Amino acid sequence: MEDLGLIEEGAVAIKDGKIAAVGNTSDVLGKYSAAKTVDASNKVVTPGFVDAHTHCVFAGSREKELELKIKGASYLEIMHRGGGILRTVSDTRAATKEELIDICRRRARSLLAHGATTIEAKSGYGLNFIDEVKILQVIKQLNVEGPLTLVPTFLGAHAIPTEYHTKTAEYVTKLCEEWIPEIAKLNLAEFCDVFCERGVFEIEDSRRILEAGKRFGLKAKIHADELYPLGGAELAAQVGAVSADHLLFASETGLSEMRRAGVIATLLPAAPLTLMLERYADARRMIAEGVAVALGSDLSPSCWVENHQLIIALACYKLRMTPAEAIMASTINAAHAVRKANAVGSVEIGKDADILLIDAEDYRFLGYSFGRNMVSTVIKRGSVIVENGKLVA
Ligand SMILES: [Zn+2]
Repeated sequence: MEDLGLIEEGAVAIKDGKIAAVGNTSDVLGKYSAAKTVDASNKVVTPGFVDAHTHCVFAGSREKELELKIKGASYLEIMHRGGGILRTVSDTRAATKEELIDICRRRARSLLAHGATTIEAKSGYGLNFIDEVKILQVIKQLNVEGPLTLVPTFLGAHAIPTEYHTKTAEYVTKLCEEWIPEIAKLNLAEFCDVFCERGVFEIEDSRRILEAGKRFGLKAKIHADELYPLGGAELAAQVGAVSADHLLFASETGLSEMRRAGVIATLLPAAPLTLMLERYADARRMIAEGVAVALGSDLSPSCWVENHQLIIALACYKLRMTPAEAIMASTINAAHAVRKANAVGSVEIGKDADILLIDAEDYRFLGYSFGRNMVSTVIKRGSVIVENGKLVA
């Protein structure tokens, strides 16, 4: 993960939205002439960031919960008091599809302006069939509109809806036997995810949901071992999940099973930050163990971050990943975590020309400096959409 394949004095040629050549500037300029040239002098050129875990489609906000958190209320306490996710569920149910598209279109532009060119996007604030479908249709619509690429995940198992309070098994049956088959038939999701946590969806509930998803062609992702060591990492390996996410309490056995099964660890350092936890995922152990590590923002109403550069900084300062590792985890590894590495995640011939110009002389400024937007240019599929830090398309 340390080898970025840096090219000093490099250039990239782009044709029809794809990368046609990458290498030394004089070689590339010797072979290609261009109708349009973008000057990257004294800048760092990277692949567009891939955010491997977001809950970006939601209505409303929960700024008042910050005060509760400051006073010591936990995520599950706030949720059991009818706040937290259930509040966002009622706000999101109340919004029309058009309203949600408007809200999320603005959010997508902000993500792009900060360098994310591909994101994974989960449902999970509908928790009934109609509103889950509405959210997945919003994701589909924004993906068709572009320029941001969104990879859809069905997360009907985000929480137990109030209607099913104390009837978890019934809700799981509903998900497995009715909603998952229908959502797969409507072709609205590529992944199926579950919030596997003590008191929410336990291991066997989660296994049923992920296996049902797989039967209908949805690849598995799992919110695993975030708040309690429940065995989510082991389950991820057993069901052949593409990624297991969070992993603050993943066991040693779980991690080695993940490595053997090729499960990617998607780490979300803004989550413990906003939950005010002392504990962070043990990225160093994972990397030493040979587990592929990706990064995601966990963008949601409880973790409202739209700047992926901050995630890279948190990975450095809180997970002790090097800037090179954090960049790899935010590009090619994250592309693998959303199964889009054939198209995005690196500056390689034949891939989509999703490219960032970072206003810094050394790549280590990603991580080192944080809180300001260092992305000066964003190229998406060959089109300049951000210039001098401003959206132009
Ligand atoms: Zn999440």
